Amino acid sequence: MEVPVFFDFCTFVSIISFSIRSSLKNFIHMKSAAVVNYAPEKGAVEIRELDKPVIGDEDVLLEVANVGVCGSDLHQWTSDHSWPVNYPVVLGHEFGGYVVEKGSRVTGWQEGDRVVSETAAVIDPANPMSRRGLYNLDPTRKGFGYGVNGAMTRFVRVPARCLHQVPEGLAFEQACLTEPCSVAYNAIVENSRIKPGDRVIVLGPGTIGILCAAVAVLCGAEVAIVGLEADKTRLDIARQYGCDTIAGDATEWARKRDGLGADCVIDAAGVSATLKIAMQLVRPNGLITKVGWGPQPLGFSLDPLVQKNVTLQGSFSHNWPVWERVLALLASGKLNVKPIIGGVWPITEWHEAFEKMHKGEVVKSVLKPV
Ligand SMILES: [Zn+2]
Repeated sequence: MEVPVFFDFCTFVSIISFSIRSSLKNFIHMKSAAVVNYAPEKGAVEIRELDKPVIGDEDVLLEVANVGVCGSDLHQWTSDHSWPVNYPVVLGHEFGGYVVEKGSRVTGWQEGDRVVSETAAVIDPANPMSRRGLYNLDPTRKGFGYGVNGAMTRFVRVPARCLHQVPEGLAFEQACLTEPCSVAYNAIVENSRIKPGDRVIVLGPGTIGILCAAVAVLCGAEVAIVGLEADKTRLDIARQYGCDTIAGDATEWARKRDGLGADCVIDAAGVSATLKIAMQLVRPNGLITKVGWGPQPLGFSLDPLVQKNVTLQGSFSHNWPVWERVLALLASGKLNVKPIIGGVWPITEWHEAFEKMHKGEVVKSVLKPV
């Protein structure tokens, strides 16, 4: 091809340098640091550089603004989880960010939209549970952070059906905690149907326990949250949500009104043995809702359930209407997650963020991609 006369040396140099810069930029954009859980062994988590995900027709590419560390991320790190993990996998399922790309069949979302994402990354829409709106209970579902790559990195591929708009004025550092708030809302409102005036005991002052207590207070219940002596820091934070806090035995609180026990006990402790305490504290014909995981076998009798005619209810995950209501509560300030956030770390410092939560020095750690 003939080179035009105005294509001088300077132009040539600037074109070359532009193309070097843009390919460098592309290169930088191609690889991002990610917190990867790479094997089932204890401690098998490290930072890896991963390619930007390729999205499908019904997905968006989300640029992560913030991602919360969940107890389940810690469980996978310490390898005491009881769900199947697709190794290697990027951790993180509590996240929000900006839509930066969208698939050809995505409607209703634009680049630049501020969004949070539900966790059921893969579902079977034909499953009977999905068809009744309970896709969170589709047994074939796969979630971010264990089934598919999660959000402890810069870019994550998200099906558009998972997205919710973040209300104006709600910062991502708080919005990323819509997920654990939705776990609590589903446990307290949908599954436990807490009524004003109920006496509710929450076992375990972790994120889910504290948020369950907060939502039960919003429902008009009298609430106590129970932990160990070692949980003092977390119980002090829980007190800000208008509940009583107890380090140790809660029997007296449970029996205070009429001597019979609490209307509802929420087990959010994360060890199976606390079910025994829940059975002691609940009143006859009461309800125990188990929201904490604990893979250990029980080793005690469930006869008190029979004797007291108690309902034992499991509560898992959440669905679309729960998310919308939680976002409304976060936007109005009725539910405030600021007291539980112990700090924001760059994802490359994931270890410190995990460790602080693991030791109970903070209730919730939040990460930011680098
Ligand atoms: Zn979570």
